[in-house]
Amino acid sequence: MLNIKNLQVGLEEENKQILKGVDLEIGEGEVHAIMGPNGSGKSTTSYVLAGKDGYEVTEGSATLNGQELLDMEPDERAAAGLFLAFQYPVEIPGVGNMTFLRTAVNAQRKARGEEELSAGEFLKVVREKAKTLKIDADMLKRPVNVGFSGGEKKRNEILQMAMLEPKMCVLDETDSGLDVDAMKLVAEGVNALRDGKRSFLVITHYQRLLDHIKPDVVHIMANGRIVKTGGPELALEVENNGYADILAEVG
Ligand code: ADP
Ligand code: MG
Ligand code: MG
Repeated sequence: MLNIKNLQVGLEEENKQILKGVDLEIGEGEVHAIMGPNGSGKSTTSYVLAGKDGYEVTEGSATLNGQELLDMEPDERAAAGLFLAFQYPVEIPGVGNMTFLRTAVNAQRKARGEEELSAGEFLKVVREKAKTLKIDADMLKRPVNVGFSGGEKKRNEILQMAMLEPKMCVLDETDSGLDVDAMKLVAEGVNALRDGKRSFLVITHYQRLLDHIKPDVVHIMANGRIVKTGGPELALEVENNGYADILAEVG
């Protein structure tokens, strides 16, 4: 599904290398987690996959089902089946949440050569998916994320993800700033999208999200590289001992 090879990334504005050769392979239907200390390059990895400005890829590749993502525009990456839920969801004043979702869904269907959903079909699907995320009708009418609480914004990101039906979902610290109940709702929303085919990369600073979204593989990132890979037990090791032991072990 997602294959990242020797990804090296710096900043466009400054001479600073952030990613120093990231290797990561995620198979169909797999859930991988990346954990790691602050500043290790987790968010940068997700930004580069999304095609955010300001980063310069100096080496390596990132393919989705064999297609090079790094050559695509952000909208082409989305059409190819990539979705990113960001640590800080953006507010879009003046654009209603429902209008935004419908535009995004139909743009993506068009890019995939599928027919647009009618207003009625769309409404039915969005209401059904919103309900499972406890997003009420009022939140669907308001401008995207404007005045939403942290938890509401994250749930809204998961709603976007559910509506777009991506193949590869990347979630960057979707749990940060959430109370336990909001985190559980987010995790349930993600789990509802697990179908054995769709793949997930869950980036998190803390282990607790992984109690609810059970990963197949856990990676530890430090200083711009993945330094250790293991099973779910690796997340528990971090929870109990912090990163110090692992970092010492890998030098
Ligand atoms: P993480 O998500 O693991 O906490 P980040 O990917 O956000 O780490 O950051 C990795 C490193 O790159 C940090 O040292 C951070 O300060 C630096 N960095 C990332 N983006 C920028 C930027 N736009 N300008 C300056 N430094 C940046
Ligand atoms: Mg950070
Ligand atoms: Mg981050």
